[in-house]
Formats: sequence, structure tokens, C-alpha cells
Amino acid sequence: MKISVQVIVDPENGDPIITKSIAAFRREDLSSDTLGLTIKESKLLLKNVQSEFVIKQVDQYIGKHKTCNQCYKKRKIKSHTEIVYRTLFGKLKLPNPRFYMCSCNKNNKQKSYSLLSVLLPERISPELQYLQTKWSSLVSYGVTSNIIEDVLPVHANISSIFYTTHKIAKQLDAEIGEEKHCFIDGCENEWNQLPNPDLPLTVGIDGGYINAREGSNRKAGWFEAIVGKSLHETHTSKRFGFVCKYDDKPKSRLNTMLKRQGLQMNQNIVFLSDGGDTVRTLQQNMSPHSEHLLDWFHITMRITVMKQMVKGLANNSEDKLHNQLKSIKWNIWHGNVSKALDKIDSFSEDFYEEKIDKNSKRFKLRKYANEFYTYIESNRCYITNYAERYRYGEIISTSFVEATVNEVISKRMVKKQQMRWTQEGAHRMIQVRIATLNNELRDEFCRWYPNMDNINNNQVLENVA
Ligand SMILES: [Zn+2]
Repeated sequence: MKISVQVIVDPENGDPIITKSIAAFRREDLSSDTLGLTIKESKLLLKNVQSEFVIKQVDQYIGKHKTCNQCYKKRKIKSHTEIVYRTLFGKLKLPNPRFYMCSCNKNNKQKSYSLLSVLLPERISPELQYLQTKWSSLVSYGVTSNIIEDVLPVHANISSIFYTTHKIAKQLDAEIGEEKHCFIDGCENEWNQLPNPDLPLTVGIDGGYINAREGSNRKAGWFEAIVGKSLHETHTSKRFGFVCKYDDKPKSRLNTMLKRQGLQMNQNIVFLSDGGDTVRTLQQNMSPHSEHLLDWFHITMRITVMKQMVKGLANNSEDKLHNQLKSIKWNIWHGNVSKALDKIDSFSEDFYEEKIDKNSKRFKLRKYANEFYTYIESNRCYITNYAERYRYGEIISTSFVEATVNEVISKRMVKKQQMRWTQEGAHRMIQVRIATLNNELRDEFCRWYPNMDNINNNQVLENVA
């Protein structure tokens, strides 16, 4: 049996309907491997449909432009050229006639123009750009190329995927408004007139490290990226992120995320972070009703380190030291900062010796305890009664941000240790990855190319990432 596929084009202007065969498939015996289309056949089919589709659209467009739309005189063709246009279903050569400017337009200094060069400046379809960007935000450029070539009738060049991804990242960045010191709008009176605010937002912010690449230097070290996530009881959570030394509008970036979460000026917002200066400046002046808390997760992490160091001392006062640490933790948990500081002080004093060896474990623990003292003291106004918040079911810890750092940075950028990034490259990757994970990439494309339909099947992909 032979099964043929035809394309039928109706110009809907009285011209005859055109029918064209674009593929034929032969099948004899039925078995699992002859039932329906193979991958190869499906690619051929898509490629041929696309080619026919596009050629007809272009022909019609050229036809409409053969006469001047002002004086209706026939335009003169200067030359016949072509452009190469890449789509999801194949790379196509499109006729691109160069017309002389019509003599009715005296003001125009240009003598001629190429019809499609103006219409299609990008030479790559939005759908192909979308898939390239989406997949490369989730998996490596190489794997993206393999996936695309597996299912679509296109050659997916890695450098072209890289170029598209960076271009889209720049476009995403361009949507972020200018950096400002303060994002609080209006005054108390105006805020009071706003509709009743939604439930509070909780924003956790933390840092992660990425392997640096500087030319051929294989030991270029690391650089820091900041990642944050905003949680709300009824809205889906959103992420934001940037490379510290590269980004010049981090506050505006955070503000954009909060606005997308529906933040209004009379709404409460809680920021949780580890108290670093970069992060603290970032979250200031976002909202008049914001609360800034030192994250419980980072406090306990430090206490756990000290606990382990005490174990390593092989000291007979181990129990006493453990009890001291327990009491320090208990006091911070209940927001008793002064008492906690006293306890840290006396804990640290226990390690004081006149001639302490600087390489000894005792010295290291004492140093660590002193740093912990400074950490708690300099963040004292951000320490709250965690016990009480916990009782009320409020978030006290950014462990959810640790998962975000992992999902935004580590899985795509750190996991493979040999992978090294430039600050710009990492920053761009973070932007596209966040747009994908936030389920916003398709929406952005639809804003740039309003005719792209807004189908959204990204939800499942959060799990794949
Ligand atoms: Zn004219």
C-alpha cells in the first residue's frame, strides 16, 4: 500500500487551488516497526510541509509588493537574491527580490531595498530560538544539539545554540528596569488607600560559587552568584539571580521579581539571608513593610561546625563544651542575643592559653568561635525569636534557597567540575535558566512575537531540570 500526503493551498482570492504531493510512504506487512511513521519519515514530512508552507507564504508576500502601495505603479526589480532562514523544520532558502524605490516617493534617499531583509532581520524563527534557549537552559549546549537533531529535521549547530541563548538572555536582561537606590513608591497616605494586601511574601537570598574561566588559565578560581526565591502561599514561587561582579542592576532585578509576585506597598515582606553585606544592601528599600531576618539555617550551620570541631579536640571536657554550644543555640533560637553573646564569649575563653599553638585545633576553634561572636553581634538586629515564628508556622530558614541555588546554578553550571564560566556567560545562563524555571520564557517570547501562540507546557520540565 502507498500512502501519500498532499498539501492543498487555497489562495482565497479566486486563483486556483493548488495541490502538491509532498511525501509518499509504502507499507506491506503490519508489525510494530512498520506501524505509523518512523522518526526519519516524520522529519521528512515536517520538512516538506514547512518548505511548501513557507514558499507559498513568501510568494504571496512578494506578489503583494510587486506594485507600489502609494501610486499602484509596478515596482522594478533590481536583482533576485536569496536569504537563508532557519526554522524548527528546516533551513530554507527564500527568494528575496531587491526592488528599486518607487519614483513617487521623492523624500527617500535610498535607491533600492530587499523585501525580506527588512521583514525577517533575524534569519531564524522565534520558535527555533525558543526551543534552543529553553533546552540549553536545562542541559548543556551539546545535549541540546543532540535533542533537537533527534526529533527535528534540522542541523543544530552548537555555536548557533550558544549565540541564540546569549542573545535571548540579553533580551531578558533588557526587560529589567534601571537600577535605583530605593524602590519604595508613594507615601503612607497612598499606601493606606490600596486594596487589602495579599498574604506576606517570604524572600530567601543566598550565594553560590561558579568555576571561573579566564582565557587558558585552568586555575582561575571561583566567583560568586546570588540567587533568591520568593515564596507565597497562593502564588507560584519565583526566582531571581545574578553574578555579583558582573550585574549592574541587582536591586531592580529583585524588584522585578517582587512585582511579578504582585507585591504592593502595603504588603508585608520578610527577607531571610545570611547577613552578608551584598545581600543586605540588595534587600533594603524594596518595601516600607519589610522585615529583614538572619537566616536560622546559616546560624545552625556554624554551630554544627563548632560541634564537630569540639569532637576533634579529644578533650575530656567535651560534654561541658557541647552543653555550652547547646545553650548558645537555645538562646539564639529564642532571640536572646545578649545572653547568647555572653555564652559565646565564655565558650571561647575556655580555649584561651598563653602560648597557644597557631596550628592547633584549639586555636582554630577559638578563632572560629570569635568569628561567630562577630557574626551574631553584627547581625543582632536581624535576629528574631525563631521559636515563636516557628510556633506560628512562619518560615525561619533559607534551606529552600539552598535548593534554589542548586537548581539554578549547581545542576547546570557546577556539577561538571571541568566546566568553567566567564562571569558574563554565567550571568546570561542564570537569566535564561531562571526564565525557564519560573515558567516565564514562553510568555516573554509571546511578548516579543505576539503571534506565537501561548501554549505552555513547561510545568513538567521543572522536574527534568
Ligand atoms: Zn509609487
